[in-house]
Amino acid sequence: MKGTKAILLILLALVLAAVPACSPREPANKPPVKYEAEFMNLFDTLSRVIGYADSQEAFQEIVSDLKDDLEVYHQLYDIYKSYPGLTNLKDVNDRAGQGPIPVDRKIIDLLLYAKEAYELTDGKVNIALGSVLRIWHDYRGQGILDPASARLPDRALLEEADLHTRFEDLIIDEAAGTVELKDPLMSLDVGAVAKGYAVEQAALAVEGRGVGHLLISVGGNVRAIGARNDQGDPWHVGIENPDHTVADYLAILDIAGLSVVTSGVYERFYLVDGKAYHHIIDPDTLFPEDRYLSVSIVTPDSGMADVLSTALLNLDLEKGKALIEGLAGTEALWCLNDGELVQSSGFAGYLKKTD
Ligand code: AMP
Ligand code: MG
Repeated sequence: MKGTKAILLILLALVLAAVPACSPREPANKPPVKYEAEFMNLFDTLSRVIGYADSQEAFQEIVSDLKDDLEVYHQLYDIYKSYPGLTNLKDVNDRAGQGPIPVDRKIIDLLLYAKEAYELTDGKVNIALGSVLRIWHDYRGQGILDPASARLPDRALLEEADLHTRFEDLIIDEAAGTVELKDPLMSLDVGAVAKGYAVEQAALAVEGRGVGHLLISVGGNVRAIGARNDQGDPWHVGIENPDHTVADYLAILDIAGLSVVTSGVYERFYLVDGKAYHHIIDPDTLFPEDRYLSVSIVTPDSGMADVLSTALLNLDLEKGKALIEGLAGTEALWCLNDGELVQSSGFAGYLKKTD
């Protein structure tokens, strides 16, 4: 089974190939040198950063500040692990039904963002789906660990859990700086939105520190700061082909200052009686649906790209297209089950120009 790490490597390998080597024989007018860095464990995935700087030290400083920022978001948004001296989303979940909990402003902001996502997607992306997602998470984990014992959760179990997924039971009090889960049996799962939202906030902070060109990828959640260089040359980003036997990429894009995010059924799944069940659950059926192999989004805000890629896997093509066409500066690429590609109306404008 492939993970997002593999996607990431493939995505950024393209950028490497696209960058001309700098000549050591031109010291008078030395162009900035390309550097890259990798780090693990934030958002349970591999992160890669590519950029140009006058020195290794200058680049390392940019990366180190970015990593520090991402680490803060990672810890606050973690639903699986608590951290000493910090109230994070796991703590919020653990205290469901126990009244308002004071939290960091970054948690309030994520939850407000997730509320917008819930409304924009008509409930197809719902961070209050934790009780249902946890069941699938456990069954998938078991099925991967011991394929012979892989089974599907009972519908009755899912339906019982679904009684505790009301977004309205998440109370966000901005003024008081608190959140409350009204239903003691509910829990939050921010897996569909937190990474993209955190990458966006961290990218904005990088820009605020005066960096004009950088490519950030956190587990395939790509966000470009500016173009590749002062000449405005775009970054080249490949969208992974779910079927590598056909080709490595579905498309290669030219992007500057934009985010590219893909949700794919191949990223996390398990097999029951030979059939694959992936990790994105349709809140209306409580099951993973087989609409597409993947959906990719191009849009400026990485948080929105994350939200929309998950949402579109839960929407039929007509509804998905209507959602995308109604959003300015946002394009999508659907990879159907037979490998056929469907583009939103302006997607072709991002395809890499032939050299
Ligand atoms: P992504 O890879 O961004 O598409 O997000 C997938 C993750 O989001 C899953 O692993 C779950 O943690 C979570 N998730 C799955 N289905 C939903 C849903 N309908 N609404 C909100 N979160 C979901
Ligand atoms: Mg997502």
